[in-house]
Amino acid sequence: MVLTFEDFPKNTRVQADVAIIGSGCGGAVMAYHLSKAGYDVVIAEEGSYYTPQEYGKMPPPEALHKLYRDNGGTLAIGSSKSPGIAIQQGRAVGGSSIINGGVCFRTPPFVIDHWRNKLGLTAFSHDELNRAFEEVEHHIHVRKMPKDLNNPAIKKLAKAAKKQGYEGGQIKRNVKDCDGCCKCVFGCPHQAKQDVLLTYLKKAQKHGLRIFANLKIHKIHKKRDIATGISGTVHHPLSGRKLAHVRIDAKLVIVAASALYTPYLLAKSGIGKASRELGKNLTLHPAARVYAIFKDRVEGWKGAFQSYAIDEFRKEGNHLINVFVPLNMMAATLPGAGIRGYKILEEFPRLGLFGSMVSDSSRGRVFGTPWGPIIYYDMNDQDKEKFIRGIKLAGNLWFDAGAQKLYLPFFHHSEIKSRDELNKISVNTVSPKFWEVTSAHPMGTCKIGNDPKTSVLDPYHRVHQFKNLYVTDSSSVPSSVAVNPQITIMGMATRAAWYLLENPVWKKI
Ligand SMILES: Cc1cc2nc3c(=O)[nH]c(=O)nc-3n(C[C@H](O)[C@H](O)[C@H](O)COP(=O)(O)OP(=O)(O)OC[C@H]3O[C@@H](n4cnc5c(N)ncnc54)[C@H](O)[C@@H]3O)c2cc1C
Ligand code: SF4
Repeated sequence: MVLTFEDFPKNTRVQADVAIIGSGCGGAVMAYHLSKAGYDVVIAEEGSYYTPQEYGKMPPPEALHKLYRDNGGTLAIGSSKSPGIAIQQGRAVGGSSIINGGVCFRTPPFVIDHWRNKLGLTAFSHDELNRAFEEVEHHIHVRKMPKDLNNPAIKKLAKAAKKQGYEGGQIKRNVKDCDGCCKCVFGCPHQAKQDVLLTYLKKAQKHGLRIFANLKIHKIHKKRDIATGISGTVHHPLSGRKLAHVRIDAKLVIVAASALYTPYLLAKSGIGKASRELGKNLTLHPAARVYAIFKDRVEGWKGAFQSYAIDEFRKEGNHLINVFVPLNMMAATLPGAGIRGYKILEEFPRLGLFGSMVSDSSRGRVFGTPWGPIIYYDMNDQDKEKFIRGIKLAGNLWFDAGAQKLYLPFFHHSEIKSRDELNKISVNTVSPKFWEVTSAHPMGTCKIGNDPKTSVLDPYHRVHQFKNLYVTDSSSVPSSVAVNPQITIMGMATRAAWYLLENPVWKKI
């Protein structure tokens, strides 16, 4: 059952076994497992509820407004030597899964080794995580993308990569009968992408899950070491007018409001501050786009939004993957306006796009203010080098594939006509302040660890000092994961759900 703003004409207080904040990847997995086990579960979701038929029909500006937080442009600021980073996040029932690319990678084994050996998180075993990943992949229908869904530009690039001997190939995505219409980031119009609304939340509703949409939680209530419930306000989705106050009393509280909003909410509720780690440790997977212009038409839009990746440089911190964002989003990042802008748009049928993502060692921070979280992220020198390296790797591959020129993600010095020119680029030739950097993968702001003095969560996602308060979203991911993170997040949440069901200590509270 989904209740929306219209169903809360007055202040309301409800009881449940479990209250979950946020209905994205982390929250939906928990809701499914706990409601299937027979518990009365309520999810509070700040965003609105749209059926797949509704979100599938939204024109791009409407989708940006209704499905994204801050219309798709939350900004991370850094020092004078660091680029600003535009972060994208979902805000709707289904969270970011409604607007994500559907790319599915398991956490690479070398990353899990890092957690175990360097961070001391020996509670995370490869076997258990693999079982969790397998279960997630089954629920969200993860399949390898066929080669015929590579757009024509990527077919050329894949050939060039093969010639170089680079490891890589077709990626997996959570889709059923994807026809390559390339609209994933505005919500799949064909219900091909198996987001959590179509999978986990749908199944959980059959087990009695109640979803309260348009309910923004402001507070987690507590009595000593016990969380007693959550409360917030129901808003009108268009006017933003406050309509009612809702309180949910529960025996178990799970926070899954994303890596930017979970630490903010905990801090606002006076929770999780003891270690002084709350909100720190933010990783972003800073990403770059590299456009290539060919002599002939390559029709980059004719193929899946994402379908192909190069694995070769992953361990060094560069994840290279194709992505073809719709023209509406792309136009703002092309280097030209007026007549020059029109000229560039004329090149659109000859344009290919490849992306590079840095597995970052920089650590940012979410600060709470009375108006919401502020995000500070200073990119370190190592990540800046990786960022430039990713651009050069992608650019050189485009030239190998026959591109005539490139447009790089710099606010000036963007057009590059030769390999020589490309290879001369460095952190010193283009100041990071002029880099156009995006992120769709904030993680890590509720540090997971064995010692309450140095971490916010224990290795089973319980907030230290609390008996019945858990965090199961991207904020619990211990480090950058070198690949797109939804399977990691859902796998970690699955493992946490297994643990909670096997150890229902919270039931006796
Ligand atoms: C455009 C885009 C493309 C992406 N592509 C991929 C991809 O192809 N593959 C991949 O692996 N990953 C991808 N990701 C990343 C992936 O979707 C996220 O990492 C993942 O969804 C994070 O899960 P989460 O549960 O932490 O948060 P989310 O899924 O973002 O869910 C958090 C939810 O909490 C709600 N919330 C926040 N605060 C409150 C509050 N106070 N009260 C009530 N509700 C609240 C939000 O509205 C939101 O719905 C993409 C992300 C984006 C934005
Ligand atoms: S490419 Fe089109 S059909 Fe395939 S998942 Fe994305 S939006 Fe859906």
